[in-house]
Amino acid sequence: MTQDPDLAPAGTVTHIAGVLIRWHMADGTIRARQRCAWCGAVIDDVDLSSLHVAAQPGETEPAPYPSWPGGAFVSTFGNATWVETVEDPANPPATACVRLDPDVTR
Ligand SMILES: [Zn+2]
Repeated sequence: MTQDPDLAPAGTVTHIAGVLIRWHMADGTIRARQRCAWCGAVIDDVDLSSLHVAAQPGETEPAPYPSWPGGAFVSTFGNATWVETVEDPANPPATACVRLDPDVTR
């Protein structure tokens, strides 16, 4: 999806996906969280132990949790999240957090 700033809902923010971190919590659950590599906003936060993922036919292990690709431009609006196709990374979407004053996102 190529973002047209005129079509993006007001309130859409586009982040740069960082690394997905999986953590075994003290209560026995396994949590995964992914933040924006630039501003630190949470773009995914899930209790993996609450997911019931079955292995695909012919596989012995379920597929790993599908995180956002590192470095991808990921837009968020409410509970909706999607990857933007950006032709020129030097020209990120108008809604990108990297366009904000760096002092605001520090
Ligand atoms: Zn961001």
